[in-house]
Amino acid sequence: MNQIIIQKYGGSSVANAERIQRVANHIIEQKKKGFNPVVVVSAMGDSTDHLIELAKSITATPSSREMDMLLSTGEQISISLLAMAIESKGYKAISLTGYQCGIQTDPYYSKAKINEIITDRILSEINEDKIVIVAGFQGISKNGDITTLGRGGSDTTAVALAVALNAKLCEIYTDVKGIYTADPRSVKEACLIQTISYDEMLELAKLGAKVMHPRSVELARKNNMKLVVRSSFELDHPGTIIKEVKCMEKAQVRGVTLDDNIVRLTVSSVPDKPGIAYKMFSALAAQNVHIDMIIQNLNHNDLNDISFTIPKDELAHVKPTIDAFIKEVEANELLIKTDVAKLSIVGTGITSDATIASGLFGALYQLGINIEMISTSEIKISCIIDEKQATEALSEIHNFFELNKVI
Ligand code: ADP
Ligand code: ASP
Ligand code: MG
Repeated sequence: MNQIIIQKYGGSSVANAERIQRVANHIIEQKKKGFNPVVVVSAMGDSTDHLIELAKSITATPSSREMDMLLSTGEQISISLLAMAIESKGYKAISLTGYQCGIQTDPYYSKAKINEIITDRILSEINEDKIVIVAGFQGISKNGDITTLGRGGSDTTAVALAVALNAKLCEIYTDVKGIYTADPRSVKEACLIQTISYDEMLELAKLGAKVMHPRSVELARKNNMKLVVRSSFELDHPGTIIKEVKCMEKAQVRGVTLDDNIVRLTVSSVPDKPGIAYKMFSALAAQNVHIDMIIQNLNHNDLNDISFTIPKDELAHVKPTIDAFIKEVEANELLIKTDVAKLSIVGTGITSDATIASGLFGALYQLGINIEMISTSEIKISCIIDEKQATEALSEIHNFFELNKVI
């Protein structure tokens, strides 16, 4: 059998009939070169957003099962249209939903994880010389229900298929030329990065660079699957390679990100005694909340303030649990700050060079920006700042670390 390559096309790459035809031509070129392309496609343009709006116009609290059923339809449209386009050009193609191509997931709607891919159907279609077009972002749970992998999850479908099919390569086609030093839509001086390590890409993705679904990078790293991120509009451009990269001792900032989808919560005047933090965070963990930075300040009279951040869309779901905790331990109140953003710098080993952290804090000080929270790891430094100043700070910090001069 000829070598399999995975190509994933994002929503904007298949947003209309003309783009679908262009994508079909590009896929056929790979077939002519002697590869077996297996293609993963997202829903057309913003259609997933429109489906979400539609559901909300019916009810404010749709069940997650029905949401997954609804959202999975977006990809079903794009895969069938792409298969038709390829067939109309004289090549054999077949579209398959997640269920049809054996993508088995756990049962957690809207955030399902892939347990296994039974590749028999895909392999038998390839054996019949067909170009297989797979619906991204969806799978099927053990009890036979459609699940989705979370927003942006088609990238993870692509990498999981690449691993399961032992593909030569996994190409992610999107609406920018590759991975930049910052979101090129927010920072006009952002530069294209030629090669980036899995670790750095994973951190950029987790910290707000939505160009790659973080789980897809994690899966690629685990399986050492080479990823290439490229533009479906400028097909001659080589894009960015994501792979294992050997690095030397010198630490270097590789990219900056902004995440404004967060909210800062402070529970004030919590009694300062053992077991209190455990009580609150275990109750939140039981609800599967994504808690990020946590700071505890000794206030006065044996009372603490505990602050932490969570994604904005989890606030409504979490608030009753915190209110109950406050009542139980007789804390004072919950303070909610929504106009915050997390600015991060990413690069392997950056915290081992103290001048990088001090440079970041100094640059924010020069901009008159107050840092509300800080968190660090080997590979990133994040600061919570006022959302109103965040976009300006992103550009300034980008240029402060001379990322506008990256070649
Ligand atoms: P697709 O629909 O192809 O999956 P996405 O919208 O999910 O595309 O991701 C592509 C977008 O990611 C780009 O349009 C860009 O604005 C944004 N982005 C954010 N950070 C970065 C970055 N560091 N490099 C490249 N793109 C980025
Ligand atoms: N269509 C889904 C979304 O918009 C999945 C994807 O595009 O990767 O989130
Ligand atoms: Mg995406």
